[in-house]
Amino acid sequence: MHMQLRENLDRVREKIAEAAKASGRVADDVCLIGVTKYVDVETTRTLYELGCHDLGESRPQQLWSKSEAMADLSPRWHMIGHLQRNKTKRTIPLLSFLHSGDSLRLLEAAKEDWPHAEPLPALIEVNISGDKAKHGFPPAEIAPALRQIAALSHLKIVGLMGMASLEGGRDQAQRDFAALRQLRDTLRNECPDEISLDELSMGMSHDFDLAILEGATMVRVGSTLFEGIDGGH
Ligand SMILES: *Cc1c(COP(=O)(O)O)cnc(C)c1O
Repeated sequence: MHMQLRENLDRVREKIAEAAKASGRVADDVCLIGVTKYVDVETTRTLYELGCHDLGESRPQQLWSKSEAMADLSPRWHMIGHLQRNKTKRTIPLLSFLHSGDSLRLLEAAKEDWPHAEPLPALIEVNISGDKAKHGFPPAEIAPALRQIAALSHLKIVGLMGMASLEGGRDQAQRDFAALRQLRDTLRNECPDEISLDELSMGMSHDFDLAILEGATMVRVGSTLFEGIDGGH
């Protein structure tokens, strides 16, 4: 498992470096978040030991159990999936990063649950594809909410997060990523000082190279890391 995982991780890192270079950046400009939702604690530990210290989970329960089982290590946990109001209390304190800031209500609710003086880095999730099943702010609703979001002192908003449409393959994914970057560029002009939009969290196993070409600074990669591994996809 160790060897296979190392090979997979190397391959992903190489692809990140190539895409970063093609977009005039270096590999270190892009943060790889290993999405461990498909695998058990043992595999997650191995990934950490191989040097991937940014780990993402989309289900709160999995984040709780892995974070407890890996309390001897210090991974940075990224919450990348929808967080229901009744799960914030246990989840928010464990996080280094909240990607799925998908409603004003959630962003406000996190206030009661964040125990530290330093604000929690968070992203505004945008529903770029307009898919009704997806979470996130509709693009047009972000600008009007910026002042309210900026007033949330328990959060440090650092950018936008988005997912490509399920349909349309890689071409559509690239268009979605470009749209998210353009939205970010537009919002920057009207952004209060408290908010930074430098980070773009976009791109998954099948399209993270395209996301990087379009300006991603964080990619969330799961299945491709675990190919050929028991309990992986
Ligand atoms: C599962 C998931 C990923 C990773 O997807 P893969 O295609 O397995 O790389 C990325 N982002 C979110 C929000 C996810 O739920």
